[in-house]
This record gives sequence, C-alpha cells and structure tokens, in this order.
Amino acid sequence: MLHPKRDIRGQFQGKGALEIAACGGHNLLMIGPPGTGKTMLATRLPGLLPPLEENEAFESAAVLSISERGFDVARWRERPFRSPHHTSSAVALIGGGSIPRPGEVSLAHRGILFLDELPQFDRRILEVLREPLETGRISISRAARSADFPALFQLVAAMNPCPCGYHGDPSKRCNCSREKIERYRGRISGPLLDRIDLHIEIARPRNWLDPNEEAANESSAMVRLRVEQARTIQMRRQDKLNQFLSVNEIRQQIPLDLESQRFTRQVFDRFLLSARAYHRIVKVARTIADLEDNTNVELPHLREALNLHCLDRAAVADT
Ligand SMILES: [Zn+2]
Repeated sequence: MLHPKRDIRGQFQGKGALEIAACGGHNLLMIGPPGTGKTMLATRLPGLLPPLEENEAFESAAVLSISERGFDVARWRERPFRSPHHTSSAVALIGGGSIPRPGEVSLAHRGILFLDELPQFDRRILEVLREPLETGRISISRAARSADFPALFQLVAAMNPCPCGYHGDPSKRCNCSREKIERYRGRISGPLLDRIDLHIEIARPRNWLDPNEEAANESSAMVRLRVEQARTIQMRRQDKLNQFLSVNEIRQQIPLDLESQRFTRQVFDRFLLSARAYHRIVKVARTIADLEDNTNVELPHLREALNLHCLDRAAVADT
C-alpha cells in the first residue's frame, strides 16, 4: 500500500497534532497567543476528514431537523462544524428549553465542536461537557421534562496562554502576574483536561499556514491521504476509530513491549497521571503508529503521545 511519509519535524506543532487528531478522532486543545492561527487550524480539520458515512449522516440530520434552523438537505453527509461563542447561553450550548431542543453539543454530533477562548466559557457549562465527552450523549432535565440527545463530537478548543494573551511570546510583553495566569488556566479543570487527548502550544510564525504556497497545498493533499489510510487501518482492525476503544480493548489490542511498559510506569509516577489520561495517551500512541502503518505501538509512539498530552515538554524529554 502506498504510504506517504509523515513529516515529523513539526511533531509538537499544530499541523502534526491536527493530523493525529483527524486520524484517530482525538480531542485537541491549542494554547497560544492571539494571531498564531489557532482558529485557522481548527477550521482546517473538517477538510482533512472524510464525509459522513450514510448511517452517521442520518443521525446528524435527525438531530439537526429538530433544531430551530432545521436540516438543510444540501448539506447531506457534510460533517458538522459548530463554533459557538463563549457568551452563548447554557441552553444554546447544552440544550434545553420548555420543549427541549438540542444544543450546540448535539448539533455537532458526528462532527466537530470548536470552542475558541475556552476559559471564557461559563465554568459550569465546561463541567457539563464531561458527560458527552465520556458517553457521546447529553441528558437535559428541566423541571418536569427531561430529554436525552446524542452528542458524539470531536472537541477542538483554543485558549490564550494568559489573560493578556502574550505569555511566552517574544513579540509582546506579558504583564500578567503568576497568580493571575494560574487562576486563568485553572478555569479548565483537571477532569476536563484529562478528557482532551492532545494539548499543544502554538507559537508564531507558521509559514506552512500560507495557503498560497504551493508546497503547503501539496502537503494538504498528502495529509488528507494519510488520514484516510490511517482511518481505514483502524476500521479494518477494530471497526471504530482509536478514540472509541474501551479500556478492555486497549488492554487486549494494544500490547506494549517490556521497554514501553517500563516507560509508562515511570511516566505514571513522574506525572501522577490519572488512569483516564494514561488510556488516552495509549490511544493516541496507537494512532501515531497507524500513521506510520506500524502494526505495533512502540516506545517512540508513546513518547510522542505523552509529549502531545503534557505541556511540560522538558520533563517528558528526560523521562
Ligand atoms: Zn499575559
């Protein structure tokens, strides 16, 4: 099988992480100053994914058809991309109302939910996201009525590194105190972060984001091809994307060699990872191995997956 080689030079940067997210259906958080192309990266994701399968398209159309705007037949099999603003109400985001209607999390079913400026969202709403991220569904109960809607979406989120936006950016000075930065980052709780597989920092500049560059266009087509191949490998092996593997399936289907087992034990101790974070890291490592058309998950795949999960990259490097 033709397998175009993956460019790993930018493996900790947005492009590589976006490709991995597209392959395995993983959730992604991008942290970087304003104007570094976080939104542009997010909007590129639908273009890297195949159109919806027929059964997925029916599910998506069913949810959209009971929304206020209804379903547009011209968009049949189009993967939803929803990007609600952080000022949206809980009902608009989660769903509800006197006759319960689906919110953005359900309108994004089988597609992508993009939350820009993640810490600006109401903290209670962010905590509610844990349910659909775990189960792919959302239950809404309002007074006497309750409803249950599908909400199986791929989460892509973006945030600034600090309240002013310029922490760590050489182009402008950041005046935020350490305390202020910690409070800002603390708005995203540990349990929510655990459910986001890839956490990456985006710095400037990014020449490859220039759509006019011939090389950039060519590489987009190559990325799409690799994504398609890696998704086909997963569907053949397990009939689902790596993101949806259960804990048992991870144990049975992703055997690790002794060296990798030793590494994961060290990582557990060093980073005090939760079991949930650990399983997500192994699933991402499986996706990275699939991108290389490698049957086995090996130590370099685990290292890269860990790097993409922990922002403390220097510490990962010495583990
Ligand atoms: Zn700042």
